[in-house]
Amino acid sequence: MNEAILVVEDEKRIARLLQIELESEGYEVRLAPDGVEGWAEFKAGGIALIILDVMLPGISGLDLLQRIRAVDSDTPIIMLTANSSLSDKVTGLDLGANDYMTKPFEMEELLARIRAAFRQLSSRTTDAGDQQQGEWLSVSDLRLNVSTREVERAGQSIALTLREFDLLTYLLRNKKLVLSRDQLLTEVWGYDYAGNTNVVDVYIRYVRKKVDEGFGAELIHTVRGIGYCIKDAT
Ligand code: CA
Repeated sequence: MNEAILVVEDEKRIARLLQIELESEGYEVRLAPDGVEGWAEFKAGGIALIILDVMLPGISGLDLLQRIRAVDSDTPIIMLTANSSLSDKVTGLDLGANDYMTKPFEMEELLARIRAAFRQLSSRTTDAGDQQQGEWLSVSDLRLNVSTREVERAGQSIALTLREFDLLTYLLRNKKLVLSRDQLLTEVWGYDYAGNTNVVDVYIRYVRKKVDEGFGAELIHTVRGIGYCIKDAT
């Protein structure tokens, strides 16, 4: 790989540890101790993925995330958050981060998520190339176009983030089937590591808010103790 992973982290010990681990995996690494340098490194180009700490001096991680997403929606961004701050995670995901890790984190899990982010990126590119026709998936009055990435319910257009779209696509491809959180994590997030499945619940909540709330019938159903299912309300 000739593109680098950018690590924006002010805690020297963590930045150094990440550098050693990532380099031993064969990744090229660039370090930035704050948001200003992080932005400069990003603008310099050649960045394949970004690991971004939320708590940074000067420009916060969330500000930098927003600034990057305003000009680039593809480069995977994994946020590092403090254990206690659920709101940072949710805000980070809302602002377009692909994933988050809570400190202290297991290096193996972070590496798995990096691999997953790269896999997802390449499968997205393949999908877009393969489907010229515009395949529509639907349930009830909700429909989604796999290639144009349009989503609408009751004729009303709905904007989803990349991950929300991928999750809804997977649900629709497996309409009426009960999907476990683990299965969703493997298939939608591409994890090859038994991680925390909370992120699935967080995203289901986002998707529900957009495609179910305010419409007549609820289409995404929680199956207690197992996971989720999308189906007609009737
Ligand atoms: Ca920090």
